[in-house]
Amino acid sequence: MIDRFNTAADILDLSEPVRQKLQRPEKQILVNFSITLDNGTEQNFEGYRVIHSTVLGPSKGGIRYDNGVHLEEVKALAGWMTWKSAVTGIPFGGAKGGIICDPRQLSKTELEKITRAYTKALVDTFGPEKDVPAPDMGTGPDEMGWLMDEFSLLHGKPIHAVVTGKHLHAGGSLGRVEATGRGVSIITLLALRKFGLDAVNTTVAIQGFGNVGLHSALFLYDHDLKITAVSDVSVALYNPEGINIPELILYYNLNNKSISGYPKATVISHSELLTLNVDVLIPAAKEDVITAENAEAINASIIVEGANGPVSSDADTILKDKKILVVPDILANAGGVTVSYFEWLQNSLSESWKIEQVNNRLEEILEKSFAEVFSAAAHYNVSPRIAAYVIAIRKVVEVQAVKESIVNSKNYKQN
Ligand code: NAD
Repeated sequence: MIDRFNTAADILDLSEPVRQKLQRPEKQILVNFSITLDNGTEQNFEGYRVIHSTVLGPSKGGIRYDNGVHLEEVKALAGWMTWKSAVTGIPFGGAKGGIICDPRQLSKTELEKITRAYTKALVDTFGPEKDVPAPDMGTGPDEMGWLMDEFSLLHGKPIHAVVTGKHLHAGGSLGRVEATGRGVSIITLLALRKFGLDAVNTTVAIQGFGNVGLHSALFLYDHDLKITAVSDVSVALYNPEGINIPELILYYNLNNKSISGYPKATVISHSELLTLNVDVLIPAAKEDVITAENAEAINASIIVEGANGPVSSDADTILKDKKILVVPDILANAGGVTVSYFEWLQNSLSESWKIEQVNNRLEEILEKSFAEVFSAAAHYNVSPRIAAYVIAIRKVVEVQAVKESIVNSKNYKQN
């Protein structure tokens, strides 16, 4: 994140103090809490919340439940949220949170206790006008509902807008669950169109079959692209004729949310999936999966970053030399934060939008952002990634300057 930030900051000729301010989070919070597990023993958990920026609005960002969560990762993810909202013009700042735990080893009751304890520990940080969490890896509508409920209990009244990505009955928005995958698909189709490629029968490999990967696969399948490979943490599957995604989703739902054992595809290795000869590769699982070590072996023409940070900065140069187009995460997976913003707006205005309204506005915002990023890339002769950072950083710097000038003028008047 910092490497890319600095490249964009050089283009914008940012001063050192401004860089320092934007690189560092506004706030980093570490919390510790214990819950009683189902077997009666006490277990302690460590969690984080990092507020990177509140310049453009309340900070916004997901909460991750994973054994690999650590502060540096949360800091980078919080920064990405700032740039993602800025590049799409969403009036939010950036934040991220996480708890070190393996959600697959915890029961629903334990997950609820963890979520409520984390919320209690951060009750002064969260708030509709302060910091608004959302789901990320390992969390979903259940966790968001528990968070909202605990926060509301602690305030003695329902406060739906404190969190997004909730179930519909808890004040969620239509279209939020699938929003990130829908956005990844919209961006993939725009990228194909930009390069004069026909979407029909375009081959796609997708790493990760969770919220982002599954919905990306389904939308692209519905647009007649051929999904030849998918993976989850347990297995990678390949079928050169294309995988029937609705059928795979049925299998996955009946198979404890795993694609392992699906009979109509061959098992390949996880690393092989990334280097398949496909038109589009969508890493939609986690960060740093395409690095200097495997970038040379990538065969896709286009990489659309469904996950946050799946391509490391040292891999960027190798992919550029290989003329592989990388559509950056802060644009490609911004569908989630965009519909989160719609959910927050609906909660704040006590409205419920129709699905068409959600989807049409999402498409409009992503099309506009895509056009702006590619036009800036041509203007500055840089990659779409650096162009996206330039747009985002410029917005934050400009708004920050206006805020500071208002504060200075007030001070001047008071003096
Ligand atoms: P998820 O937990 O729903 O799914 C993650 C998927 O990745 C699972 O299928 C898991 O089995 C798989 N996986 C994990 N490690 C893997 C590996 N080594 N190889 C192959 N598959 C692996 O998470 P998600 O919400 O889909 O998030 C995925 C990524 O997208 C994360 O980087 C997240 O930050 C990013 N993201 C999510 C959203 C959202 O709205 N959920 C929005 C923007 C970005």
